[in-house]
Amino acid sequence: MRTLITGGAGFIGSHLAHALLKAGHDVFVLDDLSTGSMDNIEPLKSHLRFDYSIDTITNEAAVSEQVDRCDVVYHLAAAVGVRLIIEAPVRTIETNVAGTELVLRHAAAKRKLAVIASTSEVYGKSTAVPFKETADLVLGATHQHRWAYACSKAIDEFLALAYWKEQGLPVIVLRLFNTVGPGQTGRYGMVIPNFVRQALAHEPITVFGPGTQSRCFGYVGDVVRGMMDLAAEPHAVGGVFNLGNDREITILALAELVRTLTNSESKIVTIPYDEAYESGFEDMPRRVPDLTKVSNLVGYKPRVQLPEILSLVIDHHRGKHTKAV
Ligand code: UDP
Repeated sequence: MRTLITGGAGFIGSHLAHALLKAGHDVFVLDDLSTGSMDNIEPLKSHLRFDYSIDTITNEAAVSEQVDRCDVVYHLAAAVGVRLIIEAPVRTIETNVAGTELVLRHAAAKRKLAVIASTSEVYGKSTAVPFKETADLVLGATHQHRWAYACSKAIDEFLALAYWKEQGLPVIVLRLFNTVGPGQTGRYGMVIPNFVRQALAHEPITVFGPGTQSRCFGYVGDVVRGMMDLAAEPHAVGGVFNLGNDREITILALAELVRTLTNSESKIVTIPYDEAYESGFEDMPRRVPDLTKVSNLVGYKPRVQLPEILSLVIDHHRGKHTKAV
């Protein structure tokens, strides 16, 4: 298969590119390097079935040309990271809505399978854990930019499903839960790379809010395998799927685990949300995926659990660059 990955120089995109090449597919990456990095695709550049172009997802000529060349589009290009979203709300909304609209329009014109990466953020403040794909989305007020991100990704989902219904465009919508592993940058606020960096430097580990909030961390290799399995499954078309890991840990327990695994002397400090993000910031107390749907359809089961993920991330930060699982 000829595959296009928008956002392919990003953390998840580059892991996907690697896995697709390994499975024998041709891979073309379109990325504007806004949050992605050449370092992520450097090891792939020598591969004969790999090519890339540095361009933005809102450049219609580039999108049209690349969609034309492929059989499947994995659309991952998006504004990501809670910190970036709060600092650049216009870019977040424009990239997520206009970019996805272009990809879908061109995929529809050329009848290409479009795999759209959405996010668990769309569940918003819902407390109905574990989150099922059919559950209500509970978003907050419009002056909190976090919800603009959730809303922009929800619009992407609506649009993808509308193209499927109205024009028969084959689409698959994936709600990615917290996805982690070696190569993820802490620059946009993601918790694991930040905690690991702080612990290795013996700096205070900064827990935002009470620390009782919990997340489920999915290994990027598991998530990428789930994406590829769904793309290869005809019955996935027209569906929305949670993807990630369903084992839950509080952020305080995560900080303690990172400190133990790194033998760090770091203190663990708590910082109020208002100080860490912006005034009135709202966090979700729990975020747990219901993985029944993807498990029933393609037998998806997370294989790599948090302690092993953290060891890989710690080795990566120490520069050992152990080969990912
Ligand atoms: N967090 C933290 N310290 C950090 C970065 C994040 O305590 O240095 C918290 C954040 O407030 C949230 C959780 O860790 O409760 C996960 O944050 P992340 O940005 O990784 O993902 P989110 O689930 O918020 O999208």
